[in-house]
Amino acid sequence: MPLFGPPNIAQLEAKRDIQGLIKALAYKDPEVKIAAADALGPLGDPMAVEPLAVLINDEDPGVRRAAVRALSARGGVRVVEPLIAALQDRDPGVRGVAAQAVYRRLMTDPDQDARRATAAALGRIKAADAGESLLRAMMDPDETVRVASVKALAAIGDVAAVGPLIVMLAHEQYRAKTSGRSSLAVERAAAQALDTLCDESAVDALQTALGHDDAEVRELAIKRLARIDSPIVAEMLEAHLDDQDPIIRRSAARGLAEVGWKPPSDEIGAHYWAALREWRRCAECGPAAIPLLVAAFPRAQSHERSDIQAALVSLNWQPSEPDAIAASYWAAQGNWDKCVEIGAPAVAVLDDIVRSAPRWRERVAAAAALKTLGEERSAPFARLDLVQHALGVLDGEGEDDEKRATLTSFLAEEHEFEPSGDQQVDWCQCGYPSTRILKDETRELITDLLGLEQDGSNEPAYFCPSCDAPQPAASVEPDGAGN
Ligand SMILES: [Zn+2]
Repeated sequence: MPLFGPPNIAQLEAKRDIQGLIKALAYKDPEVKIAAADALGPLGDPMAVEPLAVLINDEDPGVRRAAVRALSARGGVRVVEPLIAALQDRDPGVRGVAAQAVYRRLMTDPDQDARRATAAALGRIKAADAGESLLRAMMDPDETVRVASVKALAAIGDVAAVGPLIVMLAHEQYRAKTSGRSSLAVERAAAQALDTLCDESAVDALQTALGHDDAEVRELAIKRLARIDSPIVAEMLEAHLDDQDPIIRRSAARGLAEVGWKPPSDEIGAHYWAALREWRRCAECGPAAIPLLVAAFPRAQSHERSDIQAALVSLNWQPSEPDAIAASYWAAQGNWDKCVEIGAPAVAVLDDIVRSAPRWRERVAAAAALKTLGEERSAPFARLDLVQHALGVLDGEGEDDEKRATLTSFLAEEHEFEPSGDQQVDWCQCGYPSTRILKDETRELITDLLGLEQDGSNEPAYFCPSCDAPQPAASVEPDGAGN
C-alpha cells in the first residue's frame, strides 16, 4: 500500500481485512468512507458496528446514508439506536434510507430483542410515520415485540391504531375464553393503549369498528365509545339503541346511563329500556313499547316472558295473531282452550310452563293442553290422567272423608296401592294422595300422582300438584325394591 495514498478498499475487501476497512472509515475523503462502509455492511462483523455508528453523525450526507445501509445490513440490537438517530437526520435523503432500514429491521430482524428495541425506540421518538409498520409488528410472533409495538402506537398517539387494537383485544379475550391461552401482557397493553387513544378524535375509528363482523369487536368498540364524554357520542349511542345487534343495543344503553343520560318517556326511551331488558320500564314509555315487547318475546328466556307478557297487558295489548306470544298471553290468563286453539305455535310456550311454572296446577293445565294438541309428555307427570282425576275429586263437592274414600277406591282400581296387602294411602297436608304406607310401615311416594322435578345431577324431587308442597324425598323407594 502506498504510504500517503488513499486505502485501496477493493483490495481490503478482497482480503476481508476488517481492521483495514474500519480504519478506512476514519479517512478524510467521503468517497473512501462510503466505499469502506459499503464493503463492511455485508461482512456483518460486530467490530464494525461502533465505527459505523460514529458515521451516523458524519457531516457528509452520503456517508451518513452509507452508514445506515451498512448498519441495516448487519442488524441486531446494537444497530437500533444509530438507525433511530438517523431517522431524525436533518437530511431528507438520509431520513428516507433510515426509515426503510428501520421498518425493514422491525419486521425481519431475526433477533427479537432488536425488533422489540426498534418498536420501543419508535415510540420514544414518537415517529409519526411508524404507524403502519408498528401495526404490522403487532402481529409479531414474539409477545414482547407485540407489546412494545402496542405501547409505541399509544405513545405516538396514532388513532389509526384504534381499530386494529380493538380487534387484537377482542381476539385475545376470545382466546382466553376458549382456550385459556391468551397473552395477558398483550391484552393489558392493548387495553391501556386504547385508554390513551380513545378520546374524541377516535370517534370515527370506533364508529367504523362498530361495523365489524365480529360481535366481540363491536362490543368493545361501543364500550369504548360510551366512555368518551361528548355530546356527539351521546347522539351516536342514541342512534344505536335500535341496532340490529342486541349486544350493541345493550352497550349503547349502558354507555348512555354512564354519562348520566336520562331516557325520555317516548320511543327512544322504550328502545333504551328494551335494550336493558327492563320490560316493565319499557312499557311505561307507552304504545311505542308494544312492537319492541312483541319482537323480544320469542327469543326471551322463560323468566323474562312473564315480564314481557305483564308489560303488554299493562298496555292493554290483545293478541291478534295465533302465535307464541298470544299463547303466552292466554296461558297467563289461565285460558288454556285459547292455547289449544292456537295449536303448534303454543307448544313451546306450554312446554315452558310444564317445566318451570311456579304453580304446579298451572303445570297440570299446560300438560293437559299439550296432551289435547297430541303432544303428551312423560314428565313431570308420569300419569297425567291420574293426576287430573285426583285433582278433580279433591276440588269437587263433598266432605273430606268422602273424598278420601273416593280417592282410595279409585287408586285401588288403578293399582296404585294394594288394599288386600294391608297397604294404606297417606295424604298431603292439602288432602291430595301422596304416599302409600306398606304393611311394615315403610312409606313410598305414589310417584305416578306427583310432579317430578329433576335437574341434572340432583336427586329427583317430587311435589304435590295440588298445593306445591315438596314431598319428603327420604321416603322415596324405587318401585319393586326392598319389601
Ligand atoms: Zn298438597
